[in-house]
Amino acid sequence: PPLHQQRHQFVVDFVKTFKTKKVMDLGCSECSLLKKLKFHKEIEHLVGVDIDGAKVKKHMRSLAPLSTDFLQPGFEQLCVELYEGSVTQRDHRLRGFDLAVSIELIEHLVLSNLELFSEVLFGDWSPLHVIVSTPNSDYNALLPGLRGFRHPDHKFEWSREQFQSWAQCVCLKFGYSVDLTGVGRAPEGQQQQFGFCSQIAVFHRLKSVSNLALEERNQRQTPYKLLHRIKY
Ligand code: SAM
Repeated sequence: PPLHQQRHQFVVDFVKTFKTKKVMDLGCSECSLLKKLKFHKEIEHLVGVDIDGAKVKKHMRSLAPLSTDFLQPGFEQLCVELYEGSVTQRDHRLRGFDLAVSIELIEHLVLSNLELFSEVLFGDWSPLHVIVSTPNSDYNALLPGLRGFRHPDHKFEWSREQFQSWAQCVCLKFGYSVDLTGVGRAPEGQQQQFGFCSQIAVFHRLKSVSNLALEERNQRQTPYKLLHRIKY
């Protein structure tokens, strides 16, 4: 299957394994991952965020309940919310989630905004699990005809070493552990040298978020604009 499907399948498999009830997709774009996730009865609350509200609006119809959805067990408890907002800004409605997903988002942020995003995501929202995917520049040598970045809007593309060092800093600073993996294997015998086409970091929070910490950051900011709420 194409790479974008493999990334989404990775998330779906994770949701099934960890039975995450509250899931947010950051940089949800055309809502295609959300559309897949809504069919998983583990999930009760699904949130999508993107800075490009117009794009989300254009595609969110596909999330509307189908009459056949109501025949599936578990659907009566699903709530989907879509927000326009930047992941560099905190919005208290995104606290308390089991899983935050950031698929091919970070490379669209300039490094100062990535720093803000890390603070907001790990420091304020502090979800139990986080999945981050980004291009692996070690693999770029295998992409025929590629000059420069894979997409003109990319602000950076990291090697495995660079991604690992960012991930380890996040872990130290915010109390997470991380597993590094990916999707899109290099050809037979070349995996070691080039790695996966898309690299993925899976973070797990080490401690429960204390009440004190919650009180300290008890500002209730809501800068995000709710575009749509679908209650099944
Ligand atoms: N996650 C999508 C998927 O798996 O199909 C693809 C993401 S797309 C390559 C990057 C998305 O990030 C775009 O929709 C863009 O509007 C969004 N984005 C860029 N900067 C953002 C920010 N600061 N806050 C929220 N979304 C942002």
